[in-house]
Amino acid sequence: MKFSNLLLFYFILWPSLTYAEEPHDASPACARFRVHLAQELPAEKVDDPTLRNRPFTGELEKAINGWKERIEFLQDDTERARWLQCIRQFVFLDTNKNGIPDWTALVDGRPSRTLFPLDPDIDGDGVPNLFDPDPYDNTDGLPHGVIPAHLSLTGESGLWQKKLWLDLGILAINHTDEHLADTLATIYSTLQLDSVRKWKREVRGINVLYAFGHRSPEMEAAAYHPTANAISIPGRGGFGGNHLSTTQKCKFASSILHELGHALLFGIVSSDELREKAVDSGGWNLPPISNNNIWSPIFFESLNVQKAKVVSDYARTNVHEWFAESFAAYIWNKEQSSISDCQQLHHGQVSKKLKVWFETLLTRAQTRTL
Ligand SMILES: [Zn+2]
Repeated sequence: MKFSNLLLFYFILWPSLTYAEEPHDASPACARFRVHLAQELPAEKVDDPTLRNRPFTGELEKAINGWKERIEFLQDDTERARWLQCIRQFVFLDTNKNGIPDWTALVDGRPSRTLFPLDPDIDGDGVPNLFDPDPYDNTDGLPHGVIPAHLSLTGESGLWQKKLWLDLGILAINHTDEHLADTLATIYSTLQLDSVRKWKREVRGINVLYAFGHRSPEMEAAAYHPTANAISIPGRGGFGGNHLSTTQKCKFASSILHELGHALLFGIVSSDELREKAVDSGGWNLPPISNNNIWSPIFFESLNVQKAKVVSDYARTNVHEWFAESFAAYIWNKEQSSISDCQQLHHGQVSKKLKVWFETLLTRAQTRTL
C-alpha cells in the first residue's frame, strides 16, 4: 500500500463542518449540535424583538469579516442574512443565567452553521452537557467519574469504551453511528505507542470520540474538532460491518496519528512558531501574522511552491494539514517496531529539521497540560 493511496483519509474540518447535518436549502440556516444521541434538541421558539439589533461579540464580527471570502454561506447575501437571523435565536440564550451564552456560532476559529454549546453545563445542574441525559433540564443529578447509562456501550465495544475512559480519559460515544470494538481497540493501541503515551494522558485536546454517521473510511477516516475537544470517526455504518481488516486497521491507526498531530498543534504551538517552521522547513511562503491566531486564514491556503518537499500530496492542502501529515509520518516511522503488522504501509520521511522540531514538541507536551 503506497502512502499516496491514503491521501484522502485525512481531514481536519475544512471545507465543511461536520458536527451535525449540514442544513440544506429548505432547512434552517443554522443548527445546534446535538451533544449525544439520547437527547433530541428541543424546538426553540425565540421571538424577542430586542435580539434583532443586539450586537454580536467583537470576536464573532471579526471572524465573519475574516472568513467572508472563504466560506460559501457568507459570500451570498441572502444566505448570510438567513444565517445571521438564525444564529440570533441562539447565541444570546443563557439558560442558567451564569453569563456564559448557551451556544456559539464561532466554532474552530470560524463562523459555523452548526452551533456548539459554549456553556459546558447549559442547564446549570452541575452535570456537564455530555454526561447529562437531559442537558436542558436541571432537575437531574448524576455521580461524577462514571460513564452514565445513556452513553454506555454494550458488548465488546463497551469493554473498549471503559478501557479508553479509565486508562486514557477519553469517552467514546455514539452520535450518528455506532462505535465498533475494532476501531476503539485500534485507537487504544495507537495511543499506547511510546511516542504518544507519554504525553497523551495529560492532553486535554481529545476528550471525546464520536461515531459520526456520515463519515466514510474511504474519504474521511477521522476529523479533529478543537472546540469540542473531540475526534470523530466512522462506526458500524461507515465501515459497513463489525470488523476491520488488517489493512483497514493500519490505515485507521495512521489517520488517528494525523488527528493527534492536529491536537498537539492546537495545544502547544503558537501561530508565530508554526509560521516560522512552515517557512523554514516546509517551503511555505507566508506573510508575517500580526496577531497570534492559529486559525489565521493564511494557514488555510494551499502550498504554491511546486518543488517544496512534503511527505504527501495532501500535505500541500494547507499548513495545518502539512503539520498533521508530517507528524503522522514522523511517528509512523519512529514506531516501526511497534506496528509490525503494518509493514505494508509506508510513510515518507520528514526532514531532519522537522524531526528535531517534533522531538522538541513531544518533550514540551510531556510537561504541559494541553
Ligand atoms: Zn487533517
